[in-house]
Amino acid sequence: MTSSPPGLLPHDDLGAAWRKARPRPAGRHLDSAASSRQSSRALEAAAHHARHEAELGGYVAAQAAENLLQQGRSVIGGLVGMAAADVAFVESAQAALSALLTGWRLPAGSRVACLPGEYAPNIGALGAYGLRPEPLPVDGAGRADLEGVERLLRTDPPRFVHLDHVPSHRGIVQPAAEIAALCRAAGVPLVLDAAQALGHVDTDVGADVVYGTSRKWLAGPRGVGVLLARPAITEELTPVMPGGEDLPPMRAFESAEGHIAGRIGLIMAVGEHLAAGPDRARERLTGIGRATRALLDGAAGWTVIEPADEPSATTTLTPPDGVDVVATRARLLGEHGIVVSALGRERAPGEMAGPVLRVSPHLDVTLEDLEALAEAL
Ligand SMILES: *Cc1c(COP(=O)(O)O)cnc(C)c1O
Repeated sequence: MTSSPPGLLPHDDLGAAWRKARPRPAGRHLDSAASSRQSSRALEAAAHHARHEAELGGYVAAQAAENLLQQGRSVIGGLVGMAAADVAFVESAQAALSALLTGWRLPAGSRVACLPGEYAPNIGALGAYGLRPEPLPVDGAGRADLEGVERLLRTDPPRFVHLDHVPSHRGIVQPAAEIAALCRAAGVPLVLDAAQALGHVDTDVGADVVYGTSRKWLAGPRGVGVLLARPAITEELTPVMPGGEDLPPMRAFESAEGHIAGRIGLIMAVGEHLAAGPDRARERLTGIGRATRALLDGAAGWTVIEPADEPSATTTLTPPDGVDVVATRARLLGEHGIVVSALGRERAPGEMAGPVLRVSPHLDVTLEDLEALAEAL
C-alpha cells in the first residue's frame, strides 16, 4: 500500500488517464456505486457491434463476435480466479442470483447465512426460492465477525453462505478471503455478491460462486451482469434447458437473448481495468475513500459511517437533524451538478438506522470535486 501525504491522492496518472479515456462529464459524477461513466472505447465497441447487427443480422454478428466473447469470459474469470468455462453472461447481478437459484433447486426451507445488512432485493430473491436467510454474526460496523462465522459453520452449518463483498449501503469491505477459507474448511459453499466489488477491491478470494454487474466499478454498460461458478457447484445445477453439447455447462445459464453489444462493451472495460493495473487502481480508490471521509465528516453536520481508513472508495453519510437526504441529493444535482445517491432504509433494513447519502467517486475524482461537495453540503 502506497500511502501518500495527507491531502494528496495516490497515482494521479491513473486519474488523468481515466478522465481522458471518456466523454467529459456534465457535472461532478461521484456515483460509481450506482453506475460509472463508460470509456469512449467501451462505448465505441458496443456501438460497433450494434452496427454489425444491422449489417450482418443479429445472430451472424454474435457468431462473428464469439472469439471476443470467449476472451472476455477468460479475463472476467481471471478477476475471481476462475476459468472461461465457469463464466456466464447475464443481464444484471440480480439476474445472476436468480439464474443460480433457479439452477440450484435447493429444498424449500434451506438455510442461507448472510449479513444482517444484506441487500434487500437479495433477501427477496432468497425468499422467492423458498430459502431461509439467517444472520451472520457481525461487529458494530457490520463487518463479519470471523470467530462467530467459524462457530456457526462448525456448529450449525447453513446450506450456503451468501456474502456481499462490499455492500450497497456502506463502504465496508468484508473479509471475503477469510470467510472463503472458513467455508472451504467447513465444506459450506460461499456465494459472493461482487456487484460493488468487481473493479473496486480484490475479488480473487476463493469463493465458489461469484456474481456481479458491469455498470458499477468496472465501468461497463448497463444491462449486463456475470455469473461465475466453480465446477463443483456447476455439477449441482440443473439448467431450465440443457446447454449445447459441446459447450461448458455454465453456458446453459447464459441468457440466450442478451445485449451482446453490451457484453462487448464490458469486455473493453475489463481490458482497460487490467491495463490500468488493478493493484494501483485499488490503491487510488482507497486513497479516494480516505480523502472523501476526511473532507466530508462533520461538513455541515453530516457524519461519515465508515472507518476513515476503510479500503474502499465508498462513503456514506447520515444527515444532521432535520435534513432530508432525498431532498439533499436533488439539491446537489440540481444546483451544483453533483451526482450522488440517496439510499433509504429499505435498501438494507436489517442494518440501516435511517437514510444515507452515498458518495462513490471513481479514479478521476479530484480533491477539488470533493471540496466542492463539502462546500455544497
Ligand atoms: C447493485 C447491487 C446489486 C444488484 O445489481 P444489479 O446489476 O442492479 O442487479 C446486488 N448487490 C449489491 C451489493 C449491489 O450493490
